[in-house]
Formats: sequence, C-alpha cells, structure tokens
Amino acid sequence: MAIHHQPDPAARAAVASPRPSAAPPTSQTSRTPDPRALVDPVPEGPRPPALSPSRAADFKQCPLLYRYRAIDRFPETPTTAQVKGTVVHSALENLFDMPAHLRTPDSAEILVDAAWEAICQREPAMRALVPDDQVEPFLAEAHRLIDRYYEMENPTAFDAESCELRVEVDIADDVTLRGFVDRIDVAPTGEVRVVDYKTGRSPSELFEARALFQMKFYALAILRLRGVVPHRLQLMYLADGQQLRYTPERDELERFAGTLIAIWRAIREAGATGDFQPKRSRLCQWCDHKDKCPEFGGIIPEYPGWPGAPGDDTAADYLAS
Ligand code: SF4
Repeated sequence: MAIHHQPDPAARAAVASPRPSAAPPTSQTSRTPDPRALVDPVPEGPRPPALSPSRAADFKQCPLLYRYRAIDRFPETPTTAQVKGTVVHSALENLFDMPAHLRTPDSAEILVDAAWEAICQREPAMRALVPDDQVEPFLAEAHRLIDRYYEMENPTAFDAESCELRVEVDIADDVTLRGFVDRIDVAPTGEVRVVDYKTGRSPSELFEARALFQMKFYALAILRLRGVVPHRLQLMYLADGQQLRYTPERDELERFAGTLIAIWRAIREAGATGDFQPKRSRLCQWCDHKDKCPEFGGIIPEYPGWPGAPGDDTAADYLAS
C-alpha cells in the first residue's frame, strides 16, 4: 500500500475513457462481474441491511453514535459547510454530464448556482441554514472551491466513466457493502481510478485514518465488483488543493474485508441486544447527541430494536461523506 498526501499535477493527464463506450475492464479478470455490481439508481422497495463507510466508521468511533444514526435515525442539523459540499458535489457531477469541450470554468460556475437553486427548492430546511445576507458569501466560497478544482485537474481532458454511482456488493453471506462513489475513471489501458471530492481541507492526523478507511472500503468494493484492484484512489481536498492518493494492494484489501466482516458482525451482535456502548473521544465535540449520551450526563433512550435496513446510506450519509 502506498499513500501520498500532496498536490498532484500529474492528475491533469488523468486516465481517460469515453463515457458512452466505457466498459468495466473485464479483460483483466477471469471473474464474471456481479450482476448487482453497480446499482444506480437506487432500486425501489426494502433494501437489505448493509454497511456503508460512514456508518462503519461511526461504529468504530462510538457504537452509541452508530445506534443513534443508523438505528434510531435521530435527526442531525446539517452545517452550512455540509450544504456547501452538497452544492459543489452536485455541480461537479453535472459538469461531467456535459460534453468535454463544454466543461469550462464558466459552465461550472453556472452549475454551482443551479445546484444551489435546486437544493433550495428540494430542501427548504437547507435553504434556511443560509440567511439571506449570507447567500452571496456562501456562493462565493462554493465558486472558490470550484476554482481550486480547476487548479487540480482539467475536466475537459478526459471523460468520467461514472459519477455519483451507487455501489453495492456482498463480501460475505451476511455482509453487504453499500455506498456512493463520487467518480470513477477508466483509462484506455483498463486502469481504474476512484475519485472522491472533499470540500474541506486535507485531514489532520486525527482524521487521516478515517479517510484511509473510506478509500479502502471503496477499493474493496471495486475489487469485488469488477475483479480488479483500482490503480488509484484519490481524495481531492478542494479547500486547500491537496490530494490524498492511495494505491491499494490485493492482499491488503482482502485483509480489510476481514476487518469489515468483523465490524458488521459486532454491529449485528450489538443490534441483537441493544448494547451499543458510548466511547468518548476527541471526536465527541462534533457529536449532535451529547444530550442523550451518558458520557455527558444524558440518558440513553429505550432501544427501538433492529430496524429493517440499518446502515443504509441516507441523505445524512451523503452530507457526511
Ligand atoms: S458524545 Fe461521544 S460518546 Fe457520546 S454518543 Fe456522541 S460520540 Fe459517542
């Protein structure tokens, strides 16, 4: 495994694949792709329990936090930074829907404003987070993030194979991984690159482990879905122009599968009894549930029982990613 944390000018010559003709690089594998390999859009009807990167990280951080988010689903107040992240993600997704030669900075600026308008119409609660006199600086900051994106790569030079792709794969009989990948690029040589945009700054040591966990999660999902180890996983931090790049190895990912299976079984065990213990850490300062946490003098509400689909990715997951 190699992980790099630095600007990546070489990314401008990124791996490329025309979107319409892009196909999974099956030539590199003898495996038959799982027919459930790439599930997009979200299917209707009940979804089986699954593990997402956000919820797996929650359980590792604090089992009680996992319960509150995945089982009780107590609401959390989004921050303006999260709303800004949603706007920028949406703009970048829509950017790659355009023909390559039209993916200019001017187009992206228009897409930012359009994404904000769309969110305001769809989610009035998010609109309410940004006071009228703050909309202009809010959008100016979103535009700055897009400007930084253009300093990091040139989207007119390549096509994405897919954007905002929902992935779902079984890694064991009772363990399903589910998540959303911001972007997948496939080179003419078949090399796969998985890209995740972050609208914050590159992580301190405290958060780097969480970022690495997420990257391994998606690398494993791609390995199991397509039978190939992604050539690169790349987190692009638009606030400071840094990139966290990870080159996974097959053995390492197979070992990581064992870790995820163990996490899921621990979740199911806790889910059977309702015994989700609080685990205090420096990360508690960002927890929305201190009023229900014994570590902060709160009382844990009655356990509602194991739901139909704990661990599903929700809008809150998307905002948190
Ligand atoms: S405050 Fe800390 S210990 Fe309590 S639920 Fe939140 S993350 Fe867990």
